[in-house]
Amino acid sequence: MAGGGVAGVMAAITARRHGLAVTLVDDNATPGGQVFREPSAFARTVTPPDHERREGDRLRELLRRSGVRVLSGWGIWSVQPGYRLDLSNDFAVQVLEAGSLVAATGAVERFFPFAGWTDPAVMGLAGASLLMRAGGVLPGRRTLVAGAGPLLFSVAHQVLDAGGEVVAIVDTATRTQWAARAATLALDPARLKTGVAWMARLARAGIPVLGGAVIRQARRGEDDLDVTIGSVRGGAPVRSVRCDAIACGYGLKPSLGLTRMLKARHVFDEAAGYWHPHADPFGRTDVAGLYVTGDGAGVRGAQMARLRGILTGHGLAFDHGRIDAATLAHLARPLLRAMRRLEVVSRAMTSLMNPRPAIMKEAEMHAPDTLMCRCERVSIAAGGQAIRDGAGDMNQFKAWTRCGMGPCQGRMCEDSARQLLARHTARAPTEVGAFTQRLPLRPVPVRALSGNFAYADIVLPQAAPP
Ligand SMILES: Cc1cc2nc3c(=O)[nH]c(=O)nc-3n(C[C@H](O)[C@H](O)[C@H](O)COP(=O)(O)OP(=O)(O)OC[C@H]3O[C@@H](n4cnc5c(N)ncnc54)[C@H](O)[C@@H]3O)c2cc1C
Repeated sequence: MAGGGVAGVMAAITARRHGLAVTLVDDNATPGGQVFREPSAFARTVTPPDHERREGDRLRELLRRSGVRVLSGWGIWSVQPGYRLDLSNDFAVQVLEAGSLVAATGAVERFFPFAGWTDPAVMGLAGASLLMRAGGVLPGRRTLVAGAGPLLFSVAHQVLDAGGEVVAIVDTATRTQWAARAATLALDPARLKTGVAWMARLARAGIPVLGGAVIRQARRGEDDLDVTIGSVRGGAPVRSVRCDAIACGYGLKPSLGLTRMLKARHVFDEAAGYWHPHADPFGRTDVAGLYVTGDGAGVRGAQMARLRGILTGHGLAFDHGRIDAATLAHLARPLLRAMRRLEVVSRAMTSLMNPRPAIMKEAEMHAPDTLMCRCERVSIAAGGQAIRDGAGDMNQFKAWTRCGMGPCQGRMCEDSARQLLARHTARAPTEVGAFTQRLPLRPVPVRALSGNFAYADIVLPQAAPP
C-alpha cells in the first residue's frame, strides 16, 4: 500500500481483514495523510480537537491493531514492474517487493503563477490549511485567501478560528457559478450546512469576497505585501489590498508519480482539468496487479477516499481468491450506493476548481517575466517563446525550457505549461499531452544512497605501472 492517507489505511485494514499480508508505506511520521494528519504536540495545545483530529486518532488506532506492517517516514522514490519499490528516508534506503501495488498517494495542490508568487509569504491554500491544523501556526497576521473552490472558505474560516485576520477572499468563480451548483450541494445537507455557516461568518466579520477575480501581482513592501487584484476577464485592476501572507491555490489534482512510472493508462478529465489513471470502481488499472485508490484516482475528498479505500481492499481480496464474486458484490453494493451520491456533489465542487485559461493569460499579459517553473527558473515569457519557436507538446516544451526537470518533477509547473501550450497552439489539453515521469519520484539524499562509511574503507585504485 503506497500512501497512508484515509484511502490507503482503509484499503490496508480491509485487505488484512480478508487475510492478506499487507505493508503500508507512507512518507509522513505517522499515518493519516492530508486530512487526518497527526497534529504536532504544539498544535494539540493551541487548537481544539475537531472531527478530523478525532477521526485521525481513531484511524491510527485501527491501523495499529490491524496487523498491517507499517513503514512510516519512508518515501517511495522509484518503482519497477513486478513490483520493486525503492524507499528512502533522510538517512537510509531499502527495497520492498510486492505481488500487488496500490497507489494511494492522494492529491497535490494546483497552482498558477502571478507576479510576486515566489515571495516566502505566499503559500498554497491546502498547505496553509495543514500549517494551521497540523502545526498550529497561522500563515500570517493578515492573510489574503485566493484561488478557487470550497477550500477558500474553509481556509478563511480556519484563519479566523486561529485568531488571525482575513483581509479578503479572491475567488476565480463568480457568484453565478456558485449559485448554479447550489441545488447539487443540497444533495449533501451536512456539507451545505457547513458552507452556509462559513459564508454567514465571513459576512458577519465584514470580509470582502471578490468573485471572478485573480491576484495580478504581489509586491513586497517594508513589512507586508501590496497586492493588486484583477478581474478574470482582464481590464483595469479591481482592488488593491495589503496583507502579510497569501494563501493561494486552484484546487487539487491526483498525484500520478507511481501510475505514470508504471505506464498505466491515464485519461484527461475535462470538467476537473487534470489527468487521472483509468481504473474500475475497485481501483484496478490496466496494468496487472496495479490498483489506484483515494484522491489518486481522481480528487473527490476525504469521505469518498475512505469508501474507495474499503472497496479496493475488498477488490484485492477477491483478486487473491479470499472471497467469491457473490461476497464481493454483497460487500460492494452499499459502498457503491454511498459513492454515487457523493460523486455528484464532489464533481460539482471539482468543476469549480477547474482553472480557467484566463489565469495564465492574465499572468502572461501583465507579468511575462514571472517564473512559471521555480526549480529551473523558467519565465512565462521564455515558455511562450519556446512554443513560438516550435515546442509543440509537453515533452518538447520540457526539453526546450527544462520546465519540469527540477526537484518538484513538474508538480508545480505542469498545469501552467499545459495551459500555455493549449492556448498558444489552440489545441485541447489532451492533445498537448503530459510530462513523461522520470526518476526519482522525489528527491533522495545522497547520504541515504551512500550509507555510512569510513574514508579508510574506500579502496583507492592503484596507479598504472609506468
Ligand atoms: C495539502 C493538502 C491539504 C488538504 N486539506 C484538506 C482538507 O482540509 N479537507 C479535505 O476534505 N480535504 C483536504 N485535502 C484533500 C485530501 O487530501 C483528500 O480528500 C483525502 O485526504 C484523500 O485521502 P487519500 O488517502 O486519497 O490521500 P492523502 O490523505 O493525501 O494521503 C496520501 C498519503 O500518501 C503519501 N505519499 C504520497 N506520495 C508518496 C510517496 N511517493 N511515498 C510515500 N508516501 C507518499 C502522502 O504523504 C500522504 O500521507 C487536502 C489535500 C492536500 C494535498
